[in-house]
Amino acid sequence: MDMKVSKKLGLKERYNLMTRDLAWTPTYQAVQDVYPYVEYEGIKIHDWDKFEDPFRMTMDAYWKYQAEKEKKLYAIIDAFNQNNGHLGLTDARYINSLKLFLTGVSPLEYMAHRGFAHVGRAFPGAGPRVACLMQSLDEIRHSQTQIHSLSNYNKFYNGFQNWRHQHDRVWYLSVPKSFFDDAITAGPFEYMIAIGFAFEYVLTNLLFVPFISGAAYNGDMGAMAFGFSAQSDESRHMTLGLEIIKFILEQDPDNLPIVQAWIDKWFWRGYRVLTLVAMMMDYMLPKKVMSWKEAWEIYAEQNGGALFADLARYGIKVPKGWEQACKDKEHLSHQAWAVFYNYGAAAPFHTWAPSEKDMEWLSAKYPDTFDKYYRPRYEHWAKEAAEGRRFYNTTLPMLCQTCQVPMFFTEPDDPTQIAYRESTYHGMKYHTCSDGCKAIFDNEPEKYIQSWLPVQQIYQGNCFTPEANPGAPDFNPLMEVLKWYRMEFGRDNLDYEGSPDQKNFNAWKQAATGN
Ligand code: FE
Ligand code: ZN
Repeated sequence: MDMKVSKKLGLKERYNLMTRDLAWTPTYQAVQDVYPYVEYEGIKIHDWDKFEDPFRMTMDAYWKYQAEKEKKLYAIIDAFNQNNGHLGLTDARYINSLKLFLTGVSPLEYMAHRGFAHVGRAFPGAGPRVACLMQSLDEIRHSQTQIHSLSNYNKFYNGFQNWRHQHDRVWYLSVPKSFFDDAITAGPFEYMIAIGFAFEYVLTNLLFVPFISGAAYNGDMGAMAFGFSAQSDESRHMTLGLEIIKFILEQDPDNLPIVQAWIDKWFWRGYRVLTLVAMMMDYMLPKKVMSWKEAWEIYAEQNGGALFADLARYGIKVPKGWEQACKDKEHLSHQAWAVFYNYGAAAPFHTWAPSEKDMEWLSAKYPDTFDKYYRPRYEHWAKEAAEGRRFYNTTLPMLCQTCQVPMFFTEPDDPTQIAYRESTYHGMKYHTCSDGCKAIFDNEPEKYIQSWLPVQQIYQGNCFTPEANPGAPDFNPLMEVLKWYRMEFGRDNLDYEGSPDQKNFNAWKQAATGN
């Protein structure tokens, strides 16, 4: 478009001319037909122009800025790849956290791209529209740079090859997938509270900082480069999340209870997804950055506490599940890794029992819980494995109807009792893992009775390839499910000890550093 913009205009006028003034009020269509999703959630907006975009970035500046970052990012990735940077890693165990990231997180980046594009289209206000458009572009770029950075590992290590196929099928990946599917099928305002506020503002540091400092600590320049590149977008995303919640609350007092209910829901949904990050930090990084408990104390208790103190003037309260999440920090990672160790035959990455050195670190970081509740379990499994009986669980666990995590969480005040909650809806029983997940289910049962629960789907026979024959005398359901996952047994799964990844990494590293 040939629009001459005088260089003498101030930043604010220039921004208005390039963004706000490009919007218009429709005349030959009714406004509610153009923006059909904007009213049904009950949120009342009286003046969209009151939304202040704190960045005031124009599209031309956006492209210039992002292109600069892209050039630097790909220069680093190329250098890392061409110099066989993967051989400089602390240990190939680390690579399993990248498999978790590519299968569990990168597809969510892509869904965030779609979600923000949709919400940008659905909002009548030009300010939030432009901010959502830019975030939508950031998010597709995040998924692309992650795929590109991690593709190098796919040349040398197993378990990366079917990440997109697996995202829609593998049992534990239904946890992050259902989280985002839930958000994207909500209305536009709920999506903004779910992703823009609860995820980007309250929880994102607990996802990105551990992964990216984990990458830096363990010698992974590739993942570090995409992390830093995404982090500079993150400040824009966090600001959008905060500005949108303040804007909604300032527009009408009736909005407060709706927003509070979404904060309660999405804090808990997001927190449950972070279970995967907790175990990654405490168990999967050969060189550890900080414990999950320490990360929770810094990024949730301190930063989040300050945020909710600030929002108190709008009447917003700390999310409902907050107190329980703070208690759980002592247990979360240990319980999660125990489940993955159990189901190490059914996941496309390797698991292992923590070494004696690892357990010393865990004891020091969790003086009140690790030795008492979890060390005996891991020592038992390590002993069994040493005697040739590495334990693999072959029965399937019950899943939470809301978060879809296997039911391994314990009661907030009793770590020896598994937490089960039950709801009845239209004569059917549904099970949830916690008060948080039960409240979410009970509030919108019509939505959550539709959950695609991997275990139920396997038992119903929906997770086999067309060639599978359940009537055959030698039919092995687990092997058939793995085929449907496109996982190769003995190569992509099982213990790290004795895996092709371990053998290859050690041999290549020796060849590179030896004579
Ligand atoms: Fe992103
Ligand atoms: Zn749950």
